[in-house]
Amino acid sequence: MNEYKSIACRYHEIATKGHNRSMFEERLVANIRMLASYDKIEDLTVQRMRGRIFIRKKKNMAFTPDELENIKKMLSRAYGIESFSPVLETAPELENILDLAAKCASALIEKMLEKKESVTFRSRARRSDKSFPLKSKELEIEIAKRLWGVFGERLKIDLTSPDVSVGVEVRDKIALVYYETFKGPGGLPAGCNGNVLALLSGGIDSPVACGMTMKRGCNVEFLTFHSYPYTPMESLEKVKNIASRLNLYQKKGRLFACNLSELQKLIRDNCNPRFRTVLYRRMMFRIAEMVCHRYRLGAIVTGDAVGQVASQTLVNMSVINDVTKMLVLRPVCGMDKLETIDRAVELGTYDLSIIDLPDSCTVFAPDSPAVAAKYYLVEAEEKKIPDLEKALEETFRSIERFDDL
Ligand code: ATP
Ligand code: MG
Repeated sequence: MNEYKSIACRYHEIATKGHNRSMFEERLVANIRMLASYDKIEDLTVQRMRGRIFIRKKKNMAFTPDELENIKKMLSRAYGIESFSPVLETAPELENILDLAAKCASALIEKMLEKKESVTFRSRARRSDKSFPLKSKELEIEIAKRLWGVFGERLKIDLTSPDVSVGVEVRDKIALVYYETFKGPGGLPAGCNGNVLALLSGGIDSPVACGMTMKRGCNVEFLTFHSYPYTPMESLEKVKNIASRLNLYQKKGRLFACNLSELQKLIRDNCNPRFRTVLYRRMMFRIAEMVCHRYRLGAIVTGDAVGQVASQTLVNMSVINDVTKMLVLRPVCGMDKLETIDRAVELGTYDLSIIDLPDSCTVFAPDSPAVAAKYYLVEAEEKKIPDLEKALEETFRSIERFDDL
């Protein structure tokens, strides 16, 4: 079997972009380099060439199987990539292409024929160089003919789920042959659409909301609320671990950690207990807006899903949303919990999220929270807090920042 010296990455949504497409491509190249450095994969060159991104080793050496595995893992985190394949390269001449495609497919087919009577096969060709003498379909037939010449009846065509599939791409200076295609995470490269602030709790949903926002091309910074000493410091450590896991997908976002307990005490001591959860959340949104203004972040992201818990009725969500003019993104809104859990497992945050530690929202939680808090009642309760502005300002000023997670 030939050794792979190159991996070709395909993208989908970027390809639909017009005049600013190269900006998205450059961001994807930069992100791949960055993710490789996080994984300590050294000596790679990452280049874009006519609608593809190629990853090679410096000095044009072949990848070892371990290196290929590590790169596969790394690329599964690179938002913007639709799919990728380790590829063999040859000159874009018919004989060279047929030789290479047939030689490598033969090795795979022979191996399978040791165990089976016959093997199914398909070739897929694409030519971006229209001056190449054969059309894609014709090239596919030529490859099949070559292999039939070797294996005869033992080789059958199957276009839907063949045992062996050979891909060929003819470009103007080079032709690519590949046997495997791996799915990438899709979407747009993290960071190409600006920076946002995610409200990150220790739960399952908000990390998934972060992943989905990165997939739309945003770089995510994190804001978490704790209530030390009413919640343990371990709760903050847990969120730090989740943030650093999420940072494996993007240019590292900072974590802002805000102690909400002074505001929570004011709410406990002055307001009707039924509205505590909604009032806490209104404070969270106000602080989030202050952080966004201070650090020029374009939106707030939350893991809200309508109807999931008491604070997430439409009425409560509106009352909470009412305190800010910021754009609020809620990407998990359309998912059910099982889908969200699947995404959390894929992202690698699930195992961290299920560690059972108290959340800020549960501090002084009432027995029967309001599920449909009326605006005017909530506002009246809030007015009972003496000098709320000052308390918010002080809480904002006491935020701790972690830059390198
Ligand atoms: P999650 O699983 O993300 O914690 P949840 O289903 O538990 O969500 P809530 O606790 O009502 O729902 O929180 C809804 C959203 O509010 C969270 O997804 C998160 O964005 C934000 N949030 C809640 N608690 C905190 C917190 N302590 N710090 C930061 N954000 C929070
Ligand atoms: Mg929660």
